[in-house]
Amino acid sequence: MPLLKYYCKRFGVNLEIEETIIEEMILESRRHYPKEFGGILLGRYSDNLNTAIITDIMMPIEYDNSRNHFRRGNAGVKERLRLEFNKKPSIIYLGEWHTHPDSTPDPSQIDINTLRTLSQANTVMIENPIMLIIGLKMKQYNHIFYTIKNKNILSYE
Ligand SMILES: [Zn+2]
Repeated sequence: MPLLKYYCKRFGVNLEIEETIIEEMILESRRHYPKEFGGILLGRYSDNLNTAIITDIMMPIEYDNSRNHFRRGNAGVKERLRLEFNKKPSIIYLGEWHTHPDSTPDPSQIDINTLRTLSQANTVMIENPIMLIIGLKMKQYNHIFYTIKNKNILSYE
């Protein structure tokens, strides 16, 4: 399976993810289609900090969703993050992912607010959380990774 690579020009940071991880998200999200679905992105930064490497995802244990809304609960998150952090190298929380059924992967105002809140939360270990949005259609999908820097929402290409 290929390694997918993205670059955020205005941030100067790369992002890498195995295609199998995206396919895992699509597979699970199709079971919830046409409702939104999502979860957490796990991974690490390269030693020189110029590449975010997404190594895994966490499916939510509890969540609230509809055709145009998804909110995950916090059940099990702390415990999972503790386990991941004890791995070598440490795996940490990198951000959030969710679907936009029958729609485009553009961030809604709620998504933008979520990124702003995350980037300021002291429970999150990173200043530039990642948000993956998947525009999920019946037979196909397209996806865009976003991050936030100095309150600006930036996309990876
Ligand atoms: Zn959204």
